[in-house]
Amino acid sequence: MEDLIEELPTEAKHVCPVNRCRMPMGPQAAIFPGVYEGILYWQCPVCAGTWHRWPPHHPLRKFAVPFVGRE
Ligand SMILES: [Zn+2]
Repeated sequence: MEDLIEELPTEAKHVCPVNRCRMPMGPQAAIFPGVYEGILYWQCPVCAGTWHRWPPHHPLRKFAVPFVGRE
């Protein structure tokens, strides 16, 4: 299974896209067994901001919308 964050440059993996926080350990993976057996979205450990793991129109993205709070 592809891991989208692995495609980002190393520096971008450690900067929160919500508030530009520095994330020394990188973002937290949000996993919901029963919804999707894998990473559903990302969360910043500093500001608790969330962002999508899946690109627009991806079939799994709709499951993350209630958690991320935006389409
Ligand atoms: Zn943040």
